Amino acid sequence: MLNGKTAVVTGAAKGIGKAIAVAFAKEGCNIVLNYHSSLSEDTVKEIESYGVKCMPVQGSVADFEFAAELVKTVKKEFKTLDVLVNNAGITKDMLLMRMSEEQFDSVIDTNLKGTFNMVRHASSLMLKQRSGSIINMASVVGVTGNAGQANYAASKAGIIGLTKSAAKEFAQRGITCNAIAPGFVETDMTGVLSDDVKDKLLENIPLGRYGQVEDIASAAVFLAKNTYITGQVLNVDGGMVM
Ligand code: NAP
Repeated sequence: MLNGKTAVVTGAAKGIGKAIAVAFAKEGCNIVLNYHSSLSEDTVKEIESYGVKCMPVQGSVADFEFAAELVKTVKKEFKTLDVLVNNAGITKDMLLMRMSEEQFDSVIDTNLKGTFNMVRHASSLMLKQRSGSIINMASVVGVTGNAGQANYAASKAGIIGLTKSAAKEFAQRGITCNAIAPGFVETDMTGVLSDDVKDKLLENIPLGRYGQVEDIASAAVFLAKNTYITGQVLNVDGGMVM
């Protein structure tokens, strides 16, 4: 179903984004791999080993003009943009009373505005082609809130509102827009947490294990294949939030 389609994945040099790019490559999608600071040549080779094209594009999704250029490049090279996965994200954790303006703004700029920038530009192409699947990476803390993550939780809650609004605006043209809300997934992002914090989190995961990047990637592929699910937030969290 996804064979020969074009998938754009942001922040895909490592972690969940890389796993998503690999999963879509396995489905036969050509991959436009956005990365921020660096990208290993091995990642490109791994994606190409599935017989698809991999086009790496460096830049920040927080930059409105970069997002516009990225979509222009996709149109020029691949004609269509079939799947957009807005995965790029950062944390800058701090208690609210001590949070700096920079800590708040940078997380909102990358996570929420970055998602807006990409949806804004990609949608003009998808609306013309009358098809497409947009998948935005939210988080369970966007639903529940989390002490020390007011900036991050607000960005992820914002992504959920953006996702539902986009789903309503684009539905008439056959475009779906959904969010995935991961719980705790073992990546560099969560690697900085202390063992104490990780143990406490594990106590609240009914399935009794941390999430793996492949758990999120398979959910993204599922949403991209389904053309009758839109405006939903899919928790992929081992049962953390029910
Ligand atoms: P990660 O390993 O830290 O990867 C994040 C990726 O985003 C990195 O490749 C990073 O590139 C890229 N990035 C950061 N700023 C960017 C920008 N301005 N433009 C483009 N790319 C940018 O984190 P992860 O755990 O895989 O997280 C992926 C997504 O899942 C994030 O949206 C995160 O909020 C969400 N999530 C993760 C968890 C979890 O438990 N891990 C839970 C809920 C939600 P550089 O390193 O080069 O900056």
